[in-house]
Amino acid sequence: MNSTHKYIDLHVHTNYSDGTFSPEEVSRYALEMKLTAIAITDHDCVDGILPAMEEAKARGLEIIPGVELSAEIADFEIHIIGLLIDWQDPWFNEQLKKIRNARTERMRKMVEKLNEMGIGIKLEDVMALSRDKGAVGRLHLARALYEGGYTHSIKQAFARFIGRTGPCYVKRMIISPKEAIEMIRRVKGIPIFAHPRIMQHDEVIPELINYGLMGIEVLHIDHNSSTSNHYKQLAQKYGLLLSGGSDCHGAGKGYPLMGKVEVPYSFLETIKEAKKREYEK
Ligand code: AMP
Ligand code: FE
Ligand code: FE
Ligand code: ZN
Repeated sequence: MNSTHKYIDLHVHTNYSDGTFSPEEVSRYALEMKLTAIAITDHDCVDGILPAMEEAKARGLEIIPGVELSAEIADFEIHIIGLLIDWQDPWFNEQLKKIRNARTERMRKMVEKLNEMGIGIKLEDVMALSRDKGAVGRLHLARALYEGGYTHSIKQAFARFIGRTGPCYVKRMIISPKEAIEMIRRVKGIPIFAHPRIMQHDEVIPELINYGLMGIEVLHIDHNSSTSNHYKQLAQKYGLLLSGGSDCHGAGKGYPLMGKVEVPYSFLETIKEAKKREYEK
């Protein structure tokens, strides 16, 4: 197969964060979708990378180590993906563990607020949805609310209870975009601005570049061709690398999205070259 027909996915979640597939299932599904490479980009967690690699080994699927960090600016949040990170770095893992512990404490507070409203949800049930030790978040809580029959849908859980302006919303541990980007760069990763259309704050891009941002997700499940073109133009204007992925959450957002966004292998080649230039000086 020549490289123009090789497709990849640089944004995939496992059940170490809020995806519903185990890392092994993610690798098997990627192979079924005939993908050549996928990046495991769990929220605040890198523990899904090794099992995904073991499953993919010798089966023609390359696993790119990644992570997705959430950062806050004023009253909105942005997500920064780190690709090709030194995922086994002890300092990095320690930082992620702190962020995940804070997620568990925050979940305890959200569950308490729900309990005060007469909703009998239990922390253990929510934690079980993230393997008890992964990065627990609002998508898990929304699933627990839906599966417990408290809402008609996952969407309604956000609309009624845990959306940013909802009565049971509690903030996560706050890290700034500068901290997120620096964290990724410290482990020799390529920081990418994730799903810019969902974020709706293109004006922050120059600031992110000052902090060391290197790429932008121009292809994403929420981008139609005109949105993708808009971000490709921005990437060119600012000299950013192109990235792309499905943001697959397994069945967590309805159905698996892997394979639904056609990201060319050349994106990854260019990102790898940039990593060499940046860190192997
Ligand atoms: P957290 O990081 O725990 O605050 O959870 C944020 C995650 O919840 C995001 O990454 C989305 O996957 C999901 N999310 C946020 N708002 C909604 C919504 N209205 N409907 C469905 N999922 C949402
Ligand atoms: Fe998510
Ligand atoms: Fe995200
Ligand atoms: Zn994501």
